[in-house]
Amino acid sequence: MKALRKFERGVKKFRLEDVSLPDPLDHEVQVRVEFAGICGTDIHIYHDTYADEPPMTIGHEFSGVITKVGRDVKNFKVGDRIVSETNAEYCGECVLCKKGRFCLCDQRKAFGQKTDGVFAEYANLRASNLHLLPPKVSMKEAALAEPLSCVVHAVMERSTILAGDTVLVSGPGPIGLMALMIAKLYGAYVILSGTSMDASRLALGRELGADVIVDVLKEDLSQVVTEFTRGRGIDVVLECSGSGPAVNAGLSVLRKLGTFTQIGLFASAVNVNLNDICYKEINYQGCLSKTNWSWRRTVELLDSGELPLEKLISHVFTLDEWEEAFTVAEQKQGNKILFDTNAQRGNA
Ligand SMILES: [Zn+2]
Ligand SMILES: [Zn+2]
Repeated sequence: MKALRKFERGVKKFRLEDVSLPDPLDHEVQVRVEFAGICGTDIHIYHDTYADEPPMTIGHEFSGVITKVGRDVKNFKVGDRIVSETNAEYCGECVLCKKGRFCLCDQRKAFGQKTDGVFAEYANLRASNLHLLPPKVSMKEAALAEPLSCVVHAVMERSTILAGDTVLVSGPGPIGLMALMIAKLYGAYVILSGTSMDASRLALGRELGADVIVDVLKEDLSQVVTEFTRGRGIDVVLECSGSGPAVNAGLSVLRKLGTFTQIGLFASAVNVNLNDICYKEINYQGCLSKTNWSWRRTVELLDSGELPLEKLISHVFTLDEWEEAFTVAEQKQGNKILFDTNAQRGNA
């Protein structure tokens, strides 16, 4: 079968390989990958700026159908449509694992980063990671379950949003637009900010329900916030851009006792005005990855049909077209970019 693999450490050490996949182990299932999404992490792996462990097949965001089950698998059968948590390995013994926070375990290895992932026609995966998809969820939108579970963790588990709050979402990439969708579910007003490079993403944000969109290179964010909130300030900042200036801008427009949730990751250390955190008693928090609860809630949200996730999908490529797909992803031309992993060239 075809698999897009990083074959050694280094920049752009990717190639499409023909590999054979063994039968699944007793605790695993084999899935036919339907759609798989390119994540910012995959771009880091491409540029060798992530602690990956090649050789391995890349990819961790996907939807699939079970084609074989291992001997010990009880809860799933051939034909089941599934999505999967990404914890390929963890110790199971440390205090974080005991709390169910496998993503924070020092021994954790995510598939597609340290073990074989899903940019392939088929994959063998731990059955204990799987979630069954309700019938009405499309395989395309289900491929967004993994990034959505990160947003569910950040917004629903780590932040508190009340109806009528004004939320600033900085960074209108796929994660920011999903954060916008969830903030709207809570009945919040949302100001979505980005730069001129994000023009089409900001416009999509407007379509998805943003009350105000701000190009911070052309408009004064603090003036927009002051007018919109009648001087009260932002209640919750969901920082999804991973840019230092966006952090400082977010801290400055946040009200006293407001909440700041950092979702985006920074390419390097940033200069942040920490005094704002003290003077305004800001609740500043990080969040990484997700939990089993956020996966369960993600599947329920998919089933509800309340989130227009398919609008985030801008491109679908075949695995043969992987170089073009990564070029589009790197240049941030589109939004969510998927592989139709079993399609032939030109037919995705
Ligand atoms: Zn991802
Ligand atoms: Zn552990």
